[in-house]
Amino acid sequence: MQKQVVIVGAGISGLMAAQHLNRAGIDVTVVDKGNRPGGRMATRPFEGAVFDYGAQFFTVRSERFASFQRDWEAKGLVSVWNTSTHPRYIGPHGMNSIPTHLAQGIKLRCGVKVSQIFESGGQWNLEIDLDEVMQADALIVTCPVPQALALFGFEIPALKQIEFDRCLALMAILESPLELPESGAKQLVDGEPISWIADNQRKGISAISNSLTIHAGPKFSLENWEKNAEEVALKMLGGRKASAWKLHRWKYSKPSVLHEERSFVASAAHPLVIAGDAFGEARVEGAALSGLSAAERLLELL
Ligand SMILES: Cc1cc2nc3c(=O)[nH]c(=O)nc-3n(C[C@H](O)[C@H](O)[C@H](O)COP(=O)(O)OP(=O)(O)OC[C@H]3O[C@@H](n4cnc5c(N)ncnc54)[C@H](O)[C@@H]3O)c2cc1C
Repeated sequence: MQKQVVIVGAGISGLMAAQHLNRAGIDVTVVDKGNRPGGRMATRPFEGAVFDYGAQFFTVRSERFASFQRDWEAKGLVSVWNTSTHPRYIGPHGMNSIPTHLAQGIKLRCGVKVSQIFESGGQWNLEIDLDEVMQADALIVTCPVPQALALFGFEIPALKQIEFDRCLALMAILESPLELPESGAKQLVDGEPISWIADNQRKGISAISNSLTIHAGPKFSLENWEKNAEEVALKMLGGRKASAWKLHRWKYSKPSVLHEERSFVASAAHPLVIAGDAFGEARVEGAALSGLSAAERLLELL
């Protein structure tokens, strides 16, 4: 009988894993608590503007990921935004258009939050919101590691040291332009209190001028985490006037302590592999390669 594989998390890591397993002829279902795929490759519209408020671009440092980037570029799925040390790639309608495209053809259930995972009778049982239990012969879990560990009734000591920084992300339509480099984006050297500012119109994804994404640094984000949104927005705007704004709080933004392997086999007998951007590199490329590694290791175990 065909093995049933479930992947928790439809970020780039889970989607790359699902594609790899599908290519190998494995039946995979991906579940995600969000209402669309993409996780931290997140884009949202409001007031007629469009904002990337998680990952801003991706870079390519490995030949393996380069082969995907070339394919995506040939299909018009990604383009070069600008070139710093490494070219920065973006999606044509924002970063989320990349995972949205990758999710095509994958069995995906969005709006499904897994609350607990336990093994019983040789199968993995996933308790989900709607009083439903999903069963799987094998599992890949790609949510940020602290969230992943909280799902299990047992400890995975090797992963306990992984930590994530927080990030307060402000999306704002400014009343007057902000001076930015030619690319329309600026990475701030010391990263505190603000680490990143980008103009989404100049990036090419928003029709509205001065639609900015502003990211706070980890220290500012932690110190201001509990503050109300108005207070945080005022501080992050630094005296500039905005006609509209929204604040997003990324509790798990980027891992600050990583695991050295690309993925982690937590159980071989009942296959369970943990993956995501905490394995190898804390960026889109790292998450994608981790998803591929998890799929390969699962194939060996099945
Ligand atoms: C503000 C910010 C800026 C960034 N900038 C960049 C950048 O410019 N370049 C770059 O390369 N990287 C950047 N990153 C990092 C990059 O976004 C991540 O490394 C990458 O997207 C992680 O992918 P992932 O699949 O590992 O995890 P995620 O994208 O987080 O996917 C995990 C998924 O699991 C789901 N999930 C979690 N818990 C559950 C549950 N209980 N049940 C069901 N589903 C669940 C979530 O909804 C999510 O969709 C940035 C991240 C942030 C937050």
